[in-house]
Amino acid sequence: MFDAAKGTTGDRGHVLRPLPSRLVAGAADGEATDVDDLKSALVEYANLVGILEATQDGTVHALDDTRQKKVHAETRIRGEEVQTICLSPRLRVIPILHYDPQPMIDVLVIGGGPAGSTAATLLARKGFSVTLLERERFPRFQIGESLLPYNNDLLDRLGVSVPLSEGSYTPKYGAGFVTADGLLGYTFRFFENLPEAYHQSFQVKRAEFDELLLRNAAASGVDVREETAVTAVDLADSARATVTCANGERLEARFVVDASGHGAFLGNRIGDKIDVEELKKVAVFAHYRNVPRPEGRDAGNTIIVVLRDAWFWLIPVSADTMSVGLVVGRDHLRGCGLTPEQLLEQTIAGAPYLAERMKDAERVVTPVYVRRDFSFMMKRRTGKNFALAGDAAGFLDPIFSTGVFMAMKSGDMVADAVEQRLRGGSMRLLRRYDRTFQGALDKYFRFISNFYRREFLEVFLQPKADYGLIPVITGILAGNIFATNHRAKLALFFFFVRVQKMFGVIAPPIAWEELPGPASM
Ligand SMILES: Cc1cc2nc3c(=O)[nH]c(=O)nc-3n(C[C@H](O)[C@H](O)[C@H](O)COP(=O)(O)OP(=O)(O)OC[C@H]3O[C@@H](n4cnc5c(N)ncnc54)[C@H](O)[C@@H]3O)c2cc1C
Repeated sequence: MFDAAKGTTGDRGHVLRPLPSRLVAGAADGEATDVDDLKSALVEYANLVGILEATQDGTVHALDDTRQKKVHAETRIRGEEVQTICLSPRLRVIPILHYDPQPMIDVLVIGGGPAGSTAATLLARKGFSVTLLERERFPRFQIGESLLPYNNDLLDRLGVSVPLSEGSYTPKYGAGFVTADGLLGYTFRFFENLPEAYHQSFQVKRAEFDELLLRNAAASGVDVREETAVTAVDLADSARATVTCANGERLEARFVVDASGHGAFLGNRIGDKIDVEELKKVAVFAHYRNVPRPEGRDAGNTIIVVLRDAWFWLIPVSADTMSVGLVVGRDHLRGCGLTPEQLLEQTIAGAPYLAERMKDAERVVTPVYVRRDFSFMMKRRTGKNFALAGDAAGFLDPIFSTGVFMAMKSGDMVADAVEQRLRGGSMRLLRRYDRTFQGALDKYFRFISNFYRREFLEVFLQPKADYGLIPVITGILAGNIFATNHRAKLALFFFFVRVQKMFGVIAPPIAWEELPGPASM
């Protein structure tokens, strides 16, 4: 048997040199997938080692060691082996490569969070063969527990709305914002301002929600492989991508979707990642019990507590658990002289609204988690054989709970774009997806960067009903970001913010300097 790694001596004295490493790996992994591939690989090998001369149609001329006598040979596929058969002078068979009859995967998805599961499910349902590689075993912890109503249509299409409404998830009907002294606040209620389909969303434990989506992907025909981390992706050949896993396995796919979350596996390498300087923040968070909730439908709301230069979220993720998180400037955590745990607990104690609500709270026995550097954008999200989706395509500050919505929406758009690319070769929808995603990020960026400014908060927490702004702002908070018919109203809102900054006449001022800030030594 020919030993590809060491080379061997043929029975007429030929020294057959080792196969080039690319082909060795291909042979070892059973990577080559069709006859034409194998023939090309063989031609390449033959030319490289100079012992075999081959033509593209697979005919191989074996040369003897003096390189004088040509012996006719042919490449054939026998079962799982490619054989070069020398037809004269004596019949000799040199097995050269293994042939794996498995066809190439259509789409390989990296990451089984909401973006990856959504893209994979929809592509599998369109008839593509889809493999999803996920580094962890689910259920796994993830932050990002508050969903948005404008995700409801997609949840319906994926077929998970019923398990969501029957599960232990908390119904969410709105979002409240309150200053840390408890003196000023406003609640935006979806059911008062939006069409019926968007009256409600959910607060979820992400471990459970993400597992629901991932199992749904598997049930839709996706080959889901957990505990399989991707370590390398080769996109050099635009007709295919080669993906290497931590276990050494190599897979070939016609298209790769990177949905690897904030680690942005591909984007870090090829997306021209841009850090958003203005939003260099850190989040410090944990789960608590015994935190009272408002009465009635407001019980399930997210509550954002505004401090000077920081804010808290309170998200009731289940009947007895409240997710509580603090977002501060990255430099504050570095310079405050406190551990993340001390920073969290001392800031709660120093903010009257929180101190009162959390006076009997007990931290659930989990670590205090820290997440940093979560805000970034990508200059490039798509190419001929790849697309980035979800956080891997860009994420901004979590203030408006947009992450899961944007992740799933991007998975949906990517699925349509990949279908067009693979069926007809067109890049049109891929390019449109890139522009649409960036457009949504730009809109959110305007809200998010303004949220850290006093004049914005003064207008936002005391919104004017008479110009029809409240439904528009509520819509943005619910995820109605892709609509274009609210541009004039948004322009009016930001006009009010500018007037407030210059003249302070739109809304009463907030006693900003007196608001508690994040704790320090
Ligand atoms: C502090 C904070 C609070 C937030 N709060 C909210 C909120 O209230 N609501 C909201 O909607 N969003 C929120 N988000 C955002 C939310 O967490 C993300 O937007 C969302 O999880 C993105 O989903 P995704 O599918 O893109 O990525 P992820 O959920 O991160 O999933 C990516 C998956 O890829 C896997 N993976 C990574 N690398 C590899 C690899 N090399 N090989 C194989 N698998 C890999 C990971 O294990 C992971 O399971 C918050 C974010 C932060 C930082």
